[in-house]
Amino acid sequence: MTLKVYNTLTRETEEFIPLQGKTVNMYVCGPTVYDHCHLGHARSYISFDVIRSYLVYRGYDVNYISNITDVDDKVIERAKELEEDPFVLSAKFTESFKNDMKLLGVKAPDVQPKVTEHISDIIRSIETLINNGTAYVTEKGNVYYDLKRSEEKIGVLSHQTVEGLLEGSGSRVYVEDDKKYQLDFVLWKSSAENEPGWNSPWGRGRPGWHIECSVMSMKYGSEQLDIHGGGMDLIFPHHEAEIHQSESCSGKHPFSKYWMHNGFLTIEREKMSKSLGNFFTIKEVLEKFPAGTIRFFIVYTHYRTTIDFSEKALEEAGRARQRLLNTITNVEHALRETPDNENVTDSGIKELIDETRDAFILSMDEDFNTREAIGKLFVFGRRINSLITNKKPARSELKYVLDFYSEINDILRIFDFDENPDAEKESKGLSEERIMEMINLREKARREKDWAKADAIRDELNENGIIIEDSKEGVRWKRI
Ligand code: AMP
Ligand code: ZN
Repeated sequence: MTLKVYNTLTRETEEFIPLQGKTVNMYVCGPTVYDHCHLGHARSYISFDVIRSYLVYRGYDVNYISNITDVDDKVIERAKELEEDPFVLSAKFTESFKNDMKLLGVKAPDVQPKVTEHISDIIRSIETLINNGTAYVTEKGNVYYDLKRSEEKIGVLSHQTVEGLLEGSGSRVYVEDDKKYQLDFVLWKSSAENEPGWNSPWGRGRPGWHIECSVMSMKYGSEQLDIHGGGMDLIFPHHEAEIHQSESCSGKHPFSKYWMHNGFLTIEREKMSKSLGNFFTIKEVLEKFPAGTIRFFIVYTHYRTTIDFSEKALEEAGRARQRLLNTITNVEHALRETPDNENVTDSGIKELIDETRDAFILSMDEDFNTREAIGKLFVFGRRINSLITNKKPARSELKYVLDFYSEINDILRIFDFDENPDAEKESKGLSEERIMEMINLREKARREKDWAKADAIRDELNENGIIIEDSKEGVRWKRI
């Protein structure tokens, strides 16, 4: 079985062969921390979290780097608006982001460098570019990358012509008046007195946005990465700029062998974004839905497909995930009911697990097709439910099933999370699976009109800090 990856650079699905043996240097652009992150950001980081975990599962030694953009125009503007210190503001939102990620089961990167801690590295790289003639300094103390010097690389990633890029360059290409060519991008930007800035050979200033990713990926990864990722909106100008800068600094090509881009999370078919104001922060969504449901909603879509967010879609995701969890609950229940000394019969569970694992890997190997892979888990769940009812599997077989779910969960983290800042709270309280199990028991009691039992279960949940609400869509719960 071979792993295949869709590469934005070649626009083809290619066999995945890292540059050096089993080592994978993977860099994913991190957030600009000027506000709480929204669900669109969660989409990007959950997608790459699954990709990273699957690579580990397939035996690769992954070095995962993802930065924090803690100084840039947006941070400065926001700080001015709120009359706050920009560094205090970005530190606050960095913590907010890290906390959101933990709640969503996203593993922390191996390295998570901040721009403000790498200013001297950035200055050194800009000096290299100036010295080799690919960057120029202006009278105002700005430094630009001279795109005319690597014109042949324009459009390598965005697959657009110079004319097309010039036409569409309005939004995220900063328009300054002292550059030589419209597509030149800023490497160092002079700072006004009331703005954050660092001393440099070109005066007091701060890094342009793109250069940080080149510098930090080369410092903590390699001059040539195996995978570079981010959302589709970063293809141009950000990722193309990174290619120009990095290849000019290192003299090595390609800067990254594979370029991977997640699709957008939209709301009413429009990209969720701060600037459009059509966003829900991760925290807001977590108030209404369990973290597992949010994660499942994102993971149960292929990372390149657009996902349209709505409460209804999340409720549906919650129900679908519940079906998977029900099987786990069934297995746990069967395990409690199955005596130790039972004659071991072979119900065929081991073969079913092997078959499902193969099918799961086959789907994931096709450019991380989580949608199809989870589809295999639904089929598996139904077959396990029926085997439990009809064949009374042995304890050892039931344990294999739980081990298999745990193996899958190390990749997808859709059942329960390892990393959870609420771990303290949770370890004292009930696990998500136990809560689901109790909710199901209460539902059963209600169906059987055993109101006393149903109330007793609700009380027990309340005592453990869990509130449940009955709604048309089913039972919802939250921790208090
Ligand atoms: P930013 O802080 O805007 O640079 O975004 C951080 C990452 O989140 C980038 O890789 C973006 O492409 C990604 N991102 C932002 N909004 C969305 C969205 N609505 N859907 C998917 N990814 C997004
Ligand atoms: Zn970047």
